[in-house]
Amino acid sequence: MRATPPRPIRRTPLAGAASIVAIAFTLVLPRAPAVDADGAVRGRGATLYDGEVELVVERTDDGRFRLRDPERRIVTLDARNGTDAAQSVDITSATPAFETERAAAAVSVHWAAVRLLDYWRERFGRRGWDGRGGELRQHVHWGKNHFNATFDRGQVVYGDGGAHESTAIVSLDYVGHEVSHGITLTAGVGYEGEIAALNESYSDILAKCFERWAKPDRSSWLVFPEIYRTPGRATRSMSDPKRSWLSAQPDTYRGELWRDDGGPHENGGPQNRWFHLLVEGGHGANDLGDRFRVDGIGWARAEQLVWRAVTVYMRGRTSYADARLAADQAAADLFGASGRERRSVLAAWDAVGVTDAIVRETRAKRPEPRKVENATVVERVRALRRRRRY
Ligand SMILES: [Zn+2]
Repeated sequence: MRATPPRPIRRTPLAGAASIVAIAFTLVLPRAPAVDADGAVRGRGATLYDGEVELVVERTDDGRFRLRDPERRIVTLDARNGTDAAQSVDITSATPAFETERAAAAVSVHWAAVRLLDYWRERFGRRGWDGRGGELRQHVHWGKNHFNATFDRGQVVYGDGGAHESTAIVSLDYVGHEVSHGITLTAGVGYEGEIAALNESYSDILAKCFERWAKPDRSSWLVFPEIYRTPGRATRSMSDPKRSWLSAQPDTYRGELWRDDGGPHENGGPQNRWFHLLVEGGHGANDLGDRFRVDGIGWARAEQLVWRAVTVYMRGRTSYADARLAADQAAADLFGASGRERRSVLAAWDAVGVTDAIVRETRAKRPEPRKVENATVVERVRALRRRRRY
């Protein structure tokens, strides 16, 4: 059905490994773990897809431990297969080691969220999902065999999977994708029509940048490969969107598989492919018959460029033409108007069919700002601001 190269999936044999680790852990754990003033304790846990990890947990008043990070304000709860966030409960443990099979989904997303907030702070100086240190509440075991995860203003729910031979929806890139919807939300990126697809694509891109930072030796261009039992499966492929295993996407703007009715999880393919080309470079021909060659600029620069494009230039924007302009302006800001990065940005957009002609066409369709012949100076300035193209 598909030809993405199979990616080895590392699975932790939970029951066996967990008990061995638990024994090892009790031997090395100090009797009274160090507790910060805010109750934060260094703990450990078994994730579903990334083996044993270090955790930040919280000591409760009764001397137990729970999956909360008081400094980063991350609260991870068990929805107990219900769908009412108010009914979710803490996952507790007598020691700061969370090694049970039931805790593994929660440990996975708790660990990933801690890493994600650290990544944003280190790379971009950002505090929390909303930029203001807002609380992030995560609910695992959401619903019954729920094959999805959803972000809603700082609350994230993660299902246990089941469909398409999937396991729990708690991989590091899934957490990165969902919580990155907080970046687009606070940046004023909408979710209607074409911008919805770009919104989803930005989450894929930001998640991959995070994954690359968190585990550089195991990152890939596949989106969510770890939640499938069968190696090689993935929800999407950013390097080859048409061959996405679960949800085939166009790789060219208005090319094959493009959906005129929107399709937030389909029409993001061209921008995902744009980012892949920007990082790695490539050559070939697109669905429109245009040949292309792109020189890659690498992860570090591409990551800064996308972050700036989203957080500075995409507020209230609606289209692929806007995404091209935003990335172009970000490249000029960061690397200079005549830098090779800017040439790569534009070459990669041309490669996926978002050309200067598309920008002109999009502009022509927009309503003209109202006439300003008799306007006051204030109105003239306002009109000019409305017309300004980054
Ligand atoms: Zn999404």
